[in-house]
Parts: sequence; C-alpha cells; structure tokens
Amino acid sequence: MAEAGREPPRFAIRARHIFDGTAMLPANRTTVVVAMGRISAIETSGTKVDGLMPVHDLGEATLLPGLIDAHSHLVFDASDAAAANVQSASDQDLADAMSRRARAMLDHVITTVRDLGDRGFLSLTLRAETATRPAAGPRIVAAGPPITTTGGHCWFLGCEADDAETVTAAVDDHALRGVDVIKVMATGGRMTPTTAPHESQYSLGVLRAAAERAHFHGLPTAAHAHGRQGIHDALAAGFDTLEHASFMTATGMEPDPEIIEAAAVSGTIVSVTLGLLPGVHANPFMESLMPRILAHVKNMADRGVRITLGPDSGINAAKPPTVLPYAVEQFAAAGVGAAAALEAATATAAAACGLDGRAGRIAPGWDADLLAVTGNPLADITAIHQVAAVYRAGVRVV
Ligand SMILES: [Zn+2]
Repeated sequence: MAEAGREPPRFAIRARHIFDGTAMLPANRTTVVVAMGRISAIETSGTKVDGLMPVHDLGEATLLPGLIDAHSHLVFDASDAAAANVQSASDQDLADAMSRRARAMLDHVITTVRDLGDRGFLSLTLRAETATRPAAGPRIVAAGPPITTTGGHCWFLGCEADDAETVTAAVDDHALRGVDVIKVMATGGRMTPTTAPHESQYSLGVLRAAAERAHFHGLPTAAHAHGRQGIHDALAAGFDTLEHASFMTATGMEPDPEIIEAAAVSGTIVSVTLGLLPGVHANPFMESLMPRILAHVKNMADRGVRITLGPDSGINAAKPPTVLPYAVEQFAAAGVGAAAALEAATATAAAACGLDGRAGRIAPGWDADLLAVTGNPLADITAIHQVAAVYRAGVRVV
C-alpha cells in the first residue's frame, strides 16, 4: 500500500465501478486521474492513461466520493456521560481526544466532517492540522461553540446569548475567530436535561438576527431544531440547514406537512439524525421512536426535501465518531434506496457544508477525497463497510 503523504504528484486509480456522488457512471472499468490532490480526469471509454503514470488498480472495487459527516461533535466522547465528561476535561485532554477521533473517522471512510459544536474553538486548531496533513483526519468544517441561551441546550460548551444584541455579538466573535458555519440551538435538546427538545429557546426575531448577521459575514448557518415551532422559525429566519427536524413533542413526534412543504420549496437542507452502532442501546426513547423517525425521513425525501445525514456523532455510546456509514445504511433501508442514501452523505452533504465544487463528487476539479469499497454498494448498501482504500486530498490514508 502507498505510504501516507508519499503519493506522486500525478497518478491514476482504476476501479470496476464509480459512483460519482449522484449516480453510478455507465462504464465497466473506470480510471480516475489524480493530480496535486485533485481529480484531473475521468476515463470511462477504456482509453489508456499515460503509460508512465503510476496506477493504483483496485480491481473489482467501487470508487465513491469520501463520505461527509454533516453533523458531528468531536469534543464528545461517545459515552453515555458525554455531557458530564466534556465539562470535566481539560482543553489539552479534549484536543488530544479530538485528534484520535478525527483519525478514526478517516479509517471509517469519512473524509470531511462538519463539527457543529465544540468547546473553546478547539475544532479550529484541528482543522488547521488536518488541512496541512491529510492523513491526520478529515477536512473539518468548524462551527466553534454553538450559540445557545443562558443555561440552554449545551450551555456548557461556552457560548450563551439571549437576545438579538448578544446573539449578534456572538456571531461577530465567531466570525472573527474564523469559523466556517454558525450553529444556533433554536430549541432545547435531550443532552441537556434542564431543557426540552420540543420547546423553543429563541424567538423568530432573534433567530433572524443571528442568520442575517452570519450571512453578512458570508457564513452559512445551521439551526438545531427539534420542536415544531423551532423548526418553523429557523426555516423562516433563513437558516441554511435544519438539524434534526424531528418534530418532537412532549411525548412523541408530530411532523407538520406544511413546514415540510416549505422546507422542500425553499431548498433548505435538512440534516437528519440517523446512525446507530448495531447492538448498542444508548437511548431507549429515540429507539422506540425509530420506526416513526424513519417514516418521517422517508416522507420528507419523497416530498422533495433535500436530505443529508447528520448522525450527531459523539453524543452517546451508540454514536461513535465513525458511525456515519450506519446512517447511510439506515437511510437506504428507510426506503429511499442506496443511491439516494449515498448522495445524501456525499453530494448533498457537501452542499450542506458549503463545499460545492470541492467535495462530495468524483468530477474533474474536485478534491481527490475518495473511498473504495469491495463490491457494489448500489446492489447491497452494506458494502459501504467493506473498505478497500481511502484517499484524502489525493493521499492514500487507508
Ligand atoms: Zn448536535
């Protein structure tokens, strides 16, 4: 196997099939040419590549864009005490653990991760590390600490702001520090027992102030929203992605067809919280709701909502940082099929992360973030776990 960081400036990868981020290319044998970390050409016609160019022949494997985790928390340790543990850990302990988790993600085919909530802007340091050393971990799209109310959902990550003025100041501070996206907790969440997922934390006016200020800085916005009102308001405020959109009530869930229709019409990407490690039962309430959640997610896809997969990795023992491939499997099994599930975790996820043109597709000009699996994941989605190779920015890391 090629050593990390030792790739020649120009080489070719040959595989049986290529899923390009939206569909399988109609070819029996395909060659992707990688130059300086980017995809420079795709040969499907059987044309021979330059005979002097080194070729990685992956045989019967299928080549796909590297997967993109659209909603993760590298600061959380994927234990059932994740919230308590992050509060007692030192910055250095957190930074070390985040580095290990980032590397584990690469081994599990995740080449980009959108970190939607850290502590102390630690994900920005890691972002710099993986940007200069691809083998260190996925490309990181960083939100920094999520903006929440005083004592609100994930208050312990360190960014509390309650009204339009303080929320706007928090957005300014995040922009100044160089985040890639602004994350706002529009409703409560299960991880913070003093809050309720179905209850809003902010008014429409405050959410609008946050989104407008972020957009003024050229930053996209992500709203954590479980309850109906919070989902409605985040959408109306112009947030670019809706996280969870579970339509939680005090006792269960109640999807609102009108809001779903509005999300579809607006083109807003909904990041659905699928992905559980098989055999780990960390959240019995969510598990009991899972059949309804899957039906809700399938319904949103059927109604034309753009869906990506945001497993919320890190928050409990069923959600290690490497859980995303299980979310792909779960989404496919919900009834959308393998191609739509793979598109959600590649092309659509890249759009959610503001990486259109860079990641999530196999096309000339895109970064060579690639994944090869043995077998054909369109015929059997569980092939996504059979990893043959992973490339990050043209460097073979698995
Ligand atoms: Zn989250």
